[in-house]
Amino acid sequence: MSEREIEYRKPATDWQTLAYWEGCGRGELVLQRCGDCGAVQHRPRGICAGCLSSALEHFVASGLGQVHTFTVTHQNGQPAFRNACPYVLAYVDLEEGPRLMTNIVGCEPDAVEIGMAVRADFVATDKGLGIPRFVPA
Ligand SMILES: [Zn+2]
Repeated sequence: MSEREIEYRKPATDWQTLAYWEGCGRGELVLQRCGDCGAVQHRPRGICAGCLSSALEHFVASGLGQVHTFTVTHQNGQPAFRNACPYVLAYVDLEEGPRLMTNIVGCEPDAVEIGMAVRADFVATDKGLGIPRFVPA
């Protein structure tokens, strides 16, 4: 396990995304479900991306998923990322359906594989918000 850490900043929020970021601050992965067509979606929006309904509800997802694909970043000059290299940027297919872009942490980058089972883990930021990333399940 690496001690390298990305220096996550407080997320920028708006009325569509605040419940998601607040959930991350509580250690919960919050997704939206459409009350009309039942679709589960991420990223959070004001309407259903499938049927355009505004009858959306938030719910706490399992936080479980599988690595869809990933890349290992070996160089990044941005101060928040510089000391974390090499780090893993991945798409995770959530158990509930949506695909989420995230980081895989808690293992060396060489240990990450497509199809690997992962679970959500959170970094708290200020104002009660948080950032999700994933660790081996
Ligand atoms: Zn819908």
